[in-house]
Amino acid sequence: MREGLAKIVSLDETIAAISTPLGRSALGVVRISGADAARITKEFFRSSAPLQHRRSQVGTWVDGRGEAVDEVVVILGEAPRTYTGEDLVEITAHGSPLVLNRILETIRSAGARLAAPGEFTLRAVANGKMDLMQAEAVREFIDAQTEEQARVALRQIEGASAKRINPPKKELVDVIAHLEAGIDFAEDDVDIPAAELVEARIKGISEQLAALQKTFGFGRLLVEGLRLTIIGKPNVGKSSLFNRLLDSDRAIVTEFPGTTRDILTEAVNLEGIPLRLADTAGVRETSDQVERIGVGRTLEALADADLTLVVLDGSKPIDPDDRKVLSKAEGLPHLVVINKSDLPQIIDYSSSNVSALRVSALTGSGFQDLRAAIRAFLLERRTDLADDFVLTSARQNEALERALVGLETASAAVLEGVPHEMVLLDLYGSLAALNELTGEVVTEDILDRIFSTFCIGK
Ligand code: GDP
Repeated sequence: MREGLAKIVSLDETIAAISTPLGRSALGVVRISGADAARITKEFFRSSAPLQHRRSQVGTWVDGRGEAVDEVVVILGEAPRTYTGEDLVEITAHGSPLVLNRILETIRSAGARLAAPGEFTLRAVANGKMDLMQAEAVREFIDAQTEEQARVALRQIEGASAKRINPPKKELVDVIAHLEAGIDFAEDDVDIPAAELVEARIKGISEQLAALQKTFGFGRLLVEGLRLTIIGKPNVGKSSLFNRLLDSDRAIVTEFPGTTRDILTEAVNLEGIPLRLADTAGVRETSDQVERIGVGRTLEALADADLTLVVLDGSKPIDPDDRKVLSKAEGLPHLVVINKSDLPQIIDYSSSNVSALRVSALTGSGFQDLRAAIRAFLLERRTDLADDFVLTSARQNEALERALVGLETASAAVLEGVPHEMVLLDLYGSLAALNELTGEVVTEDILDRIFSTFCIGK
């Protein structure tokens, strides 16, 4: 059992939950984990042969009075070779909510309590079966809505994170040990490591961690979705374009200028990549009160966007309103989209640094290229490391940031000749942050943050 967790997590009780969504389905699964799992199972499970580790066994689940509840398949996993590291029983029954609840009730009547969200995974962490980063990845995997999200989460479940964090962490422990030795034995004339040497080692650790942190840019986009904002003066076809990208009619399309007054946000799966679309009112300045609110929000959305699509109307010449919109997007990541390519093209647009895509929201022509350009934009944010390590959680990013700040302070202090006792404080701070990252040190707060968003039964 991990230190720290012991104080927070109680492993004494046996927990149980329905692990499949409640609703009519072909099959449903009830899980039991803990010291009493096998005893409880034997109390209600009738079969021709005894349960064996990891062997599925068909039989009948009965209630307290011996009345059959369902024909079930039971798999018993004996500690410690299970997901939770404890005795773990999985009962597959017919997917009737009534049946599953009756099975759960019999289990509870025999002394198990209902599991909290993510508690099976929490036990896996507590029993050293996985670290906290892997547990977070389990949740991300279950929550994944696109293939790319799932792919990255699966790598992390497999332990990609720890593989990257542990080497620099080990090195940090080593540097700390050196400095500690320098202090402890200073009077015995042991060489205190030369400042530059120490500084170089700290810098090396810092560089490794900084490379990991850089992947958060991509990781965040992957988990939260690329925030895409569509801007342009009224009537260029923003709503139509939005709808095309969504393949639905959720945004309001009208022929009157300035009627898309609110920002609509929708998420779509763009070839395996999550995309969050914000359709915004025109950027044109206006005296209309309601529309002005919309314009203000557009500028806000622009500031929040990862990528902006600037829409122009290809059937009209560029006017001062278009120029204003273009200038708003300048300096921000954006693509210029010339819409209405089905009409005679009058627009004369050219820019040296941004290439424009021609599309028709009416016919759908050019959308394949547009989707490809958006996807390419996201994938460009992938770093070299992204294949086996992508930082996807804000919690992990914060911890890594703290570790880096500690290292930077320490490294500057070493060069300035600050006493090692002081430098060590910063290094210990960094180490604590890294320990928090992997879950060697945990607080109730962190556990809450991670596990409150899990489903029950996982
Ligand atoms: P918004 O004000 O920028 O959101 O523009 P809308 O999407 O409401 O479109 C304004 C008008 O242009 C509507 O009448 C649309 O049907 C029309 N429109 C939008 N896209 C196209 C297009 O690609 N081709 C043509 N011919 N008309 C379009």
